[in-house]
Order: sequence, then structure tokens, then C-alpha cells
Amino acid sequence: MADFEPRRSVAFIGSECYPFVKTGGLGDVMYALPKMLTQQNVDCHVILPKYACIKQEWKDKMFYKGSFYMDLCSDGRQYYVGIMEYVEDGVVYDFIDNDEFFSFGKPYTNLVDDIPKFCYFSKAALAALIYMDWIPNVIHCHDWQAALCPIYLKTLFADTKLCNTRAIFTIHNLRFQGIYNEPTLRYWTGLPDIAFAQENMGNDKGDANMLKGGVAFADIVTTVSQTYAEEIKTAFFGENLEMHLQRNASKLVGIVNGIDTDVWNPATDKLLVAPYDIGNVLEKKPENKHALQERLGLEQDTDKMVIGLVSRLTDQKGLDILNQILNDIVDDFTQVVVLGTGDKGYEQSFQYFEASNKGRVCSYIAYDEALSHQIYAGADALLVPSLFEPCGLTQLISMRYGTVPIVRETGGLKDTVEPYNWMSNWGNGFTFDRYESGLLLDAINRAKKLYFENRWQWDEMVQRDMDKDVSWWNSALAYRGLYLMLT
Ligand code: ADP
Repeated sequence: MADFEPRRSVAFIGSECYPFVKTGGLGDVMYALPKMLTQQNVDCHVILPKYACIKQEWKDKMFYKGSFYMDLCSDGRQYYVGIMEYVEDGVVYDFIDNDEFFSFGKPYTNLVDDIPKFCYFSKAALAALIYMDWIPNVIHCHDWQAALCPIYLKTLFADTKLCNTRAIFTIHNLRFQGIYNEPTLRYWTGLPDIAFAQENMGNDKGDANMLKGGVAFADIVTTVSQTYAEEIKTAFFGENLEMHLQRNASKLVGIVNGIDTDVWNPATDKLLVAPYDIGNVLEKKPENKHALQERLGLEQDTDKMVIGLVSRLTDQKGLDILNQILNDIVDDFTQVVVLGTGDKGYEQSFQYFEASNKGRVCSYIAYDEALSHQIYAGADALLVPSLFEPCGLTQLISMRYGTVPIVRETGGLKDTVEPYNWMSNWGNGFTFDRYESGLLLDAINRAKKLYFENRWQWDEMVQRDMDKDVSWWNSALAYRGLYLMLT
């Protein structure tokens, strides 16, 4: 541990964390980053809501740590705060318990309910730290659901034991900001006027913006790739906050996400019929492909190229340009597998695509952790044609599983996938720049050409991808550096 002196303590505060509750990449990060930091001499607590939708097997493992009452709204109403604790891999998970807020949703519902829920959660998280008398050096808050924490810290908690604690706020996706009318937010938060000033939560339309306030009050703001840190200062990616982010640019840092290489490990993955490593991937991948084809009702032929998509089905993910070319991708030699849920329009268009290409296409409209592993292992290539992508994890997971990513050059996709170069026979995947269906199709066709015509070069790329470091180690070190700098 000598390399990792001095020790620091950090409270991670956010709305989801694998394996308890996960809807996307935030859940992966809230699990994997603290776990890695504990190996770098950082003492981590993760503070989460105790949602009713958390599986009973996890609830059974939690123990009661204590409870108290906290005032919340501007009229001083009192609310119960229970703390349930669970410890794993050196990380302490503290779940904030309150049935009034957390008994519905999976875990999110709609803003009308979610705004009070996360006002309560943000304040209760800080109050719980004081109640437990665990005073961290840093609170590390994630996305709009925890964006009020830095504001509470610097205002209502300024004279508490947390007075020397510093705040880092991480933006995982700028699209979601927690915007609501100001009077309602004033009521629920009980925050002082300064929090609602124009340079903080205020905006011109009489609304208050929780994420905007979190950026203003945090000591450091991070986002999940260097390219996205630059992009969000521009109008196209800035989601109306580009000016605010420019004003706060001196404290904005991009640190790319990693993945948990224990959870995502093809050599030990119990969900695969044929686990594999870099040494036997070329023999074992076809076995996984065959099992995938069988499970999904596709023609069972491992010579066919299988192209996968594992994604929330929303506009962000580039599905409109993908829809335009779906019928140009499948042919006698190529199959497509889609796993996702989201906007009804996309769900239906993928179902239609399956119906008109039986045996060649499967659109599995669900959230299914096990099937996602089987697709990463059984597919040859994975599509990530996003309109914008703060970091993106699916391309990292696919590389770890020797599945070649086909991505648009934006955000973290640009930072993590080196385009294949025919001349040097080097690179990790296929990329395209402008958001156009024709360019996406071109990238897919380049991948197909290599797969069918130069298999040994393709196979080298498969092995190169598996060899690439996609772990959290270096990025966790970068976060550790920030914690040390602040305290
Ligand atoms: P985002 O957070 O924008 O949804 P990321 O690429 O950062 O996108 O993270 C997506 C995570 O969610 C990955 O772990 C991916 O495997 C998982 N995922 C997305 N959709 C599904 C699904 N339908 N079933 C299972 N896992 C999914």
C-alpha cells in the first residue's frame, strides 16, 4: 500500500448501483469505481435509496444501522430517515430507507414524483453521514439526482461536521438535468435564495435546474470522457447549459470510464456456454455464437456474421439512422441481434424488422442482464452509432469479449475505439464521423469486408481488443488524484 499514501475517504452518492438497481451505465460506475478505489487506499461508502424494486435477496443481506428524523421542506416538515447497511469487497453500501419516497418506481417514475424523491435523498444522504459520524474528505455526487448534495453541503450543512468536506460532481449524461418550477423546488429543498440565483440553479424561464446548481457549487466537476468534456461546452451537445459549463470550465475535467473486469470477464463468465480467454477465443466464440443463435431462434450457422446491439432504445443511441439501413445490413451471410427497451416507436420498428427477416434477425425487447452477456460473447461485432455518448460502456464490454465495436466518433466512443487502419493493420473497431445513415452503413460494410475477406486480420483485431486495458485502474487513479488535490 506504500504507493497509495495518504488514505482518503469518499462518499459516493447516486441514484443507482449494480447489482442492486441499474438502468444504465451510471449503475455500473457506482459499483465498479468505488470497488477499484478501495484497492488504492480510498475508504468508500456508497449512499443509495432503498427502493422497493431492489430484489429481496439483497434486502435480506442488509442490516439496520439506525434511524432519525430530518426536516426537509421550507415549512420544516419532518421525515423519517432509516439507514440499512451492507458491506462487500471493502465497500460500505448505505441505503436510505423511507417508504413514502421509495416504495414505487423501477426506480424512476416521472418528474412529479422523482423531484421530491431526490430532494429528500440528497439531503438525507448528508444527514446520514453526520448521524453515522462518518465524515468523508469528499462527497462524490452523480447526475442530477444527487446534484443538490454540493448545494446543501455549502449552504445548510456549512456549519456542521461536514464543513471541511469537499464536493465532486460527475455528469454521466447532460441530457437529464432535473428541471422543475422554482416555487416547488424551493418548497421541497428548503434551500436559501442564493441556491436559486441565476448563476446557480436559476434560469430565465422561472425554473430551477438541479444539475446546473450542482455544477456551480461543486469544487470539481467531472464528466466521463475527455471528448465529452469538450463537447458539452458547445451548443450542439450542451443541452442549453453550454454557457454555464464554459463559465465553470476551469473546474471541468474529463475522465474516461472503465468496466469491472471481474463482472465482465469472458474467462469466468458463468452465463456463457463456453467461457474463453484471449488464447482460445477463436475456437470458443463460435460455440457461444451457436448457443446465441439457438436461444434467439436464428439460423444456426457459425459462419454467419452476427452483429449485435445492446442499448436503451432512445434517440440518443443513433437508432434513427440505424433504422434507415436495417434492411441493407442483413443478407444471406449476416444476422442482427437487438437487445433493448425504451421508446415504443423503436421497439415496434425493431419488432417489425424481426418479423420481416425471420431467422436472420432477433429483436429482444427487454432488459436482460444474462442475454446481454451472451450477446457480447456470441456476436462478432457490436453497433454503437450514438448521436452523442458521454462515455459508453457497451463498446468497452464488447472489446473485452473480443467483439469488434462499430461506433460513431463522438464522446467516449471516440476516446476508446481506435479506428481500424488497413495500411498498418491496427486499431480496435470501425468508426464513422458525421451522423448519417450512409456513413454508418459504410462502416458496417468495411467491417463485413474484413470479416469475410481477411479473416486472419479480423481475428487479430479480436485478440487485440481482448488485450486492451478497459479496466478502472488508471481512471480510478485519476479520481484519487482529484481527491488528494482537494483535501
Ligand atoms: P447508458 O448509460 O446511456 O444507457 P452505457 O453504454 O453507458 O449507456 O451503459 C449501458 C449499460 O446498460 C451496459 O452495461 C449495457 O450492457 C446495459 N444495458 C443496456 N440495455 C440493456 C438491456 N436491454 N439489457 C441488459 N443490459 C442492458
